[in-house]
Amino acid sequence: MKKILIQGAMFSEISYYLDQECFQDVEEVVINGFPFYRGKVDDKIIIVQLTKMGTINATMATMTALYEFQPDVVINQGTAGAQVRELTSGDIVIGKQAVNVHSLEMPARGYGEGIEPKEWVKMHTEYINAEEELVQFFERGFRKSDEVGNVISGTLGTGDLFSKEKDRILWLRATFGHLSEDMETFAVYQACRECGVPCVGIRVISNNELLGEPFDSATALTLQKMIWNVVTA
Ligand code: SAH
Repeated sequence: MKKILIQGAMFSEISYYLDQECFQDVEEVVINGFPFYRGKVDDKIIIVQLTKMGTINATMATMTALYEFQPDVVINQGTAGAQVRELTSGDIVIGKQAVNVHSLEMPARGYGEGIEPKEWVKMHTEYINAEEELVQFFERGFRKSDEVGNVISGTLGTGDLFSKEKDRILWLRATFGHLSEDMETFAVYQACRECGVPCVGIRVISNNELLGEPFDSATALTLQKMIWNVVTA
């Protein structure tokens, strides 16, 4: 790992990195609308990128980064909503794989026959794997950290939505089997697969609608600290 790209969708998901010494006096570069910051720790070049929110931004941002900087690995990280009752704010999910929770087709219905999302079925649903070595690298690294709640490896679900209906969450989870919901990971996995670049997605639970836990932006900071410690160790 010589050149590492670390992505976050919101500024609060990259601000801790930018506070580190190696990013002081570093100029922001904006390419195709996406801000980049390039720092160096020992022999590692670390490029931090703001992807902005959502799958389309994440795809454009990732393609831009891969072309401009040719990173050896991509780490997409940030907050996510738990889709199971067992995960609470501060817990971490390492994305062994990612799935697009919008890959759905609906049975036909006529005028006046209503809208029945629970009858929708999977359509061209893909589960894209992260680079297994990166998954294991972070599993090992986080084990040594004292910051953490639970760390679990599994499936990250991605869509351009923020689910707050409990029944919808239960149905989506039963359909796709993901542990958390975010708005970028799958897009990054897809771009990296097509370009042959190893990647991993890591998410901290910032909210759990099933338990009534509202969005807690402070969780993003804890995750950044943990990732920074592992990457620069
Ligand atoms: N307070 C912020 C919250 C944005 S939440 C705002 O209103 O702008 C959406 C972002 O956080 C996305 O980048 C997504 O990846 C992540 N996220 C956190 N929890 C999520 C959830 N339950 N569903 C979808 N995305 C979630």
